[in-house]
Amino acid sequence: MYKNLIVGCGLSGSVIARLLAENGEKVLVIDKKDHIAGNIYDYTDVNGICIHKYGSHIFHTNNEKVWKFINKFADFNTYMHKVIAFIDGIETTIPFNLNTLYDVFPKSLALRLEEKLLSAFEYNTKVPILEFQKQEDKDLKFLSDYVYKKIFLHYTAKQWGKTPEEIDGSVTSRVPVYISRDDRYFQDKYQGIPLKGYTELIKNMLDHPDINVQLKTALKDLQSADTELFKKFDRIFCTCSIDEFFNYKYGELPYRSVNFKFETHNCEYYQTNAVINYPCNYDFTRIHEYKYYLGDKSDKTVIAKEYSEFFERGKNERYYPIENNENRLLYEKYKKEIPQKVYFLGRLGDYKYYDMDKAIERALTLFEEIK
Ligand code: UDP
Repeated sequence: MYKNLIVGCGLSGSVIARLLAENGEKVLVIDKKDHIAGNIYDYTDVNGICIHKYGSHIFHTNNEKVWKFINKFADFNTYMHKVIAFIDGIETTIPFNLNTLYDVFPKSLALRLEEKLLSAFEYNTKVPILEFQKQEDKDLKFLSDYVYKKIFLHYTAKQWGKTPEEIDGSVTSRVPVYISRDDRYFQDKYQGIPLKGYTELIKNMLDHPDINVQLKTALKDLQSADTELFKKFDRIFCTCSIDEFFNYKYGELPYRSVNFKFETHNCEYYQTNAVINYPCNYDFTRIHEYKYYLGDKSDKTVIAKEYSEFFERGKNERYYPIENNENRLLYEKYKKEIPQKVYFLGRLGDYKYYDMDKAIERALTLFEEIK
């Protein structure tokens, strides 16, 4: 019988653990944290509100296989995420779309801009902001400058400490200008929040007689207790950061981290939407109000103001890989030295800005490759 060690008990680690166990293999999963589910961990607080400790997580996918897999471990509601942005005293929809025009501009100007947009782009197209800026027409140039400045420039400075041009284009294109009247943040076929929360979902995934979970345990704790450790396992799956695995011998891979300042308020609702972005004001990027996700009933509400900061070891958690050539090269340098029978996966292991469905897809594919 194969023996597998999984480092990290978040979504990627738990998916691969389950797949291996269902294949009749023994699995030990370890995690430094004192809880399962990694950064998708949630819990119900004293007010009966389900809190996403590491920020809002909304499941969305077009991948049938991923959706089918995840539904084996949880039932989902049909929550469709919308994001409101607070721009010049007005609440409007993000991504910027045809409806947004009418919220932020006088009607005559909005009508003119809509007409020009519809002649320049196909209806239902998603245009990344850096592409959208390549406009010749005077009105569309005005519009692209407006969207760039009011939505992307300051938010990206807060989130990444850089301008939109300085970060990888795939990041800002996650929130394109949308030539549409669809106000949803995602257009995927399947969207929702697990009715009993993400922690419960992961708990169900790990609930298998061949899976053993050991919390508050780092790989180096196991190694120092047992120098022959690697010989005991046929395979090791790491969802930790690759630089950490190699003891930072070529230097550190940088990440952005997030600091959430939680507040409980004595009112039913604090804001009009689960997430409100502040692309122009304040030092935080957005405010999350958690009771919206599962429709929790309470006369109190819990919010979190989200502040972005650099990841520093021992101080905060890794959230976002900073994808650029320099960091990719460093990742590749480490990758060349991955020992046989050791596999890396997940947002940290692959150093990729995966959404949850992409993390699952990656684990499913890796399993197919090695089984
Ligand atoms: N972004 C922005 N203004 C917004 C929302 C997003 O400039 O109001 C940019 C910003 O650079 C951000 C990226 O788009 O990092 C991706 O945003 P997304 O909401 O997908 O980030 P996540 O929810 O993964 O943190």
